Amino acid sequence: MPELTVVVPAYNESEGLREFHKRVSAVLDGMPDLDSAVLYIDDGSRDDTYAIMCELRASDPRVATLRLARNFGKELALTAGLDHIASGAAVVIDADLQDPPELIPTFVQHWREGYDVIYGTRASRAGETGFKKMTASGFYRVMEKLSSTPIPRDTGDFRLLSRRALDALGQVRERQRFMKGLFTWVGYKQLSVVYHRDPRYAGETKWNYWKLWNFAIDGITSFSGAPLKLATYVGFATSVIAFVFAIWVLGKALVFGDPVRGYPSLMVVVLFLGGVQLMALGVIGEYLGRLYVEAKQRPLYLVDEYHPPRD
Ligand code: UDP
Ligand code: MG
Repeated sequence: MPELTVVVPAYNESEGLREFHKRVSAVLDGMPDLDSAVLYIDDGSRDDTYAIMCELRASDPRVATLRLARNFGKELALTAGLDHIASGAAVVIDADLQDPPELIPTFVQHWREGYDVIYGTRASRAGETGFKKMTASGFYRVMEKLSSTPIPRDTGDFRLLSRRALDALGQVRERQRFMKGLFTWVGYKQLSVVYHRDPRYAGETKWNYWKLWNFAIDGITSFSGAPLKLATYVGFATSVIAFVFAIWVLGKALVFGDPVRGYPSLMVVVLFLGGVQLMALGVIGEYLGRLYVEAKQRPLYLVDEYHPPRD
C-alpha cells in the first residue's frame, strides 16, 4: 500500500505524457524512503493517451491507471482519482508539466512536519497571455470578496493532501465541484509554497474564455450566495427610485395638470424595470439550475477500467 500517490488527470495529453512520467519518476526515485505510486486518469481522451498510460504501467510497477467512461472534465476526473486512493496521502498535479514535479519533495517535507494541505501558489505564469493573467487575478479577487471560504489567490489544484484531508474531501459529494474551493473548505493545517509556473510542455490548453467564464460562475455560485443578495438589493434600490419618481410624477400632475406627455420617461422606466427583473430572474435561474443538477443525484462519474499499481 503506497504512502503517497501522485494523481494525474489527463485529457488528450499523449504528446507530453512520457516526458511527464520521466520527470515524476525521477522525483519519486529521489525519495527512496517513501513508498509511492502514480495514478493516471484518462478523462475520455480521444488520442492515444490511454495507450501510453498502459505502456507506462507495463514498464513501471508504481503506475496505476483509471479510465473514465467519457470526458467528465478535470474536476470530476480528479475526484475519481482521489476516490481511488485507498491509503496514504495524495499529490494532485497536471499532466502538462506546468506544475513542476520537482516541488513534490518540498510538499512531502511539510507533510511530514504535520501539515494536511500543502498547495502551490504561483508567483509567475510563464507562457500565458497578459489578458489571461489579468482575468485570472480579477477572478481570485472577486472570489476573495464573495466567498465565505477564503480561497487562496493564484492557487491551482497542484497540492498535497494528507489522509484525513482526503477522507474529508471524500465526504463531499456535491456535483458542482469547484475543487480549489473544496480543498480549502476542508481546513486542517494548510500551507502555501510559492513556485514559478512553467509554460505547457506540449499540446494545448483545454480552456477557452467561455469555459473559464462558466468555471468562474460555477466557483462563485458554489461558494457564495452573494449574487442572490445583490439581486435583492438591486431590486430594493430600484423600487426606492421608482417610488421617488412616482411621487414626482404625481406631484407634477397635481400642480401643473396632466397634459398627455412623458412617453420617453415611460419607456425608460418600463425598459429599466424589465431589465432589472430579468437580471434578478437570471441570477435565481443560475442557482435553480444547479439545484436541479444536484437533485437528480446522478453518479459523479463512471469508471471504464481501473488497474491498481502492480507492486
Ligand atoms: N484535463 C482533464 N479533463 C479535461 C480537461 C483537462 O483531465 O476535460 C486535465 C489536463 O489533461 C491537464 C489538466 O487537466 O492535465 C489541466 O488542464 P489544462 O492544462 O488544459 O488547464 P490549464 O493549465 O490551462 O488551466
Ligand atoms: Mg495546463
